[in-house]
Amino acid sequence: MSEKNYQIRLKSRPKGWVSPENFDYVEAEIPDIGDGQVLIRNLYLSVDPYMRGRMNDAPSYIPPFQIGEVLEAGVVGQVIKSNNPKFAQGDHVVGMLGWELYSRSDGSGLMKVDPSLAPLSYYLGILGMPGMTAYVGLTAIGEAKKGETLFVSAASGAVGSVVGQLGRIFGCHVVGCAGADDKVAYLTQELGFDRAFNYKTAGQVHKKLAELCPAGIDVNFENVGGEILEAALWNMSNFGRIVLCGLIAHYNDEKMAPGPRGMGLIIQRRLKVQGFIVFDHMDLGMEYIQKAAGWLKDGQLKYHESVAEGLDQAPQAFIGMLKGENFGKQVVKLD
Ligand code: NDP
Repeated sequence: MSEKNYQIRLKSRPKGWVSPENFDYVEAEIPDIGDGQVLIRNLYLSVDPYMRGRMNDAPSYIPPFQIGEVLEAGVVGQVIKSNNPKFAQGDHVVGMLGWELYSRSDGSGLMKVDPSLAPLSYYLGILGMPGMTAYVGLTAIGEAKKGETLFVSAASGAVGSVVGQLGRIFGCHVVGCAGADDKVAYLTQELGFDRAFNYKTAGQVHKKLAELCPAGIDVNFENVGGEILEAALWNMSNFGRIVLCGLIAHYNDEKMAPGPRGMGLIIQRRLKVQGFIVFDHMDLGMEYIQKAAGWLKDGQLKYHESVAEGLDQAPQAFIGMLKGENFGKQVVKLD
């Protein structure tokens, strides 16, 4: 275990695609702790699409990263010193901490996790924020029901893979798309999706969706935007719901893209289109964690992750995830 602290700080804001030059890898002091604080040795760090938005200097639901400051992420770690009665030395915890080996926390937003229930990295994925996002989006926003057709984009990723499996548990006909043939095979052969396709090689996506969803799409769980959203819109059933979870196809755009054509269909087909942020639904998120632990144990939920080794690999893991190089949830193991 490293005797020193290392951190990744924001060096510059990207214009268009994010690149390794936007990050600084620096040596730093292991922080001292005061009253009420804990020192955490970070073990796994999550890289997530929303971080691309935080690299821009623009107001959003979460403040932008600041140049020269340590980046922030979902992190699982172990408490190594504690001046906080809620946490003991040795406890494993998850929270929003730095892209660094050692973090100081006053305990706010920090949650204990049980390493005997699941591998620690799962608390950043299927038993963490992405899993909660899938559940909140599918239940509270999409109101998916038995017998309905569910379509999910970025389907093999951290959120999408859980969306599809929950859809199966709820009795939906589940269709997904992903950007590589091995990902597509994983969806149908491992995760139980009814149908799946590679959006890069399928030809016109709206035609493919018409073929795979002949009764129309009742719930579109949108992770991507752009052409895929437009194709889904054209295939929606009357009274369908579009769950706007993310628009990753646009996160590195330098100029705002034109909106999807076919907006009139929202009126004609009486569609509901709703965006959401998982953190507004934490009660439901906690309900999901209880259920998901059981579903994982009895094999109804399966999980795949890509693990990058070492803090210095975090920028590349993040960039690779935005490009689709991850297979399942992308995490970074900190040495
Ligand atoms: P993933 O694990 O799914 O990784 C991102 C994936 O997106 C890539 O692997 C790639 O897969 C796909 N992708 C990237 N660019 C494109 C593109 N141009 N067209 C189609 N697919 C693309 O990430 P997450 O599961 O963490 O996030 C999925 C979505 O959910 C994101 O949009 C994210 O912002 C959103 N999100 C929203 C939350 C909320 O509260 N609203 C919370 C968490 C996530 P492929 O190989 O298949 O192309």
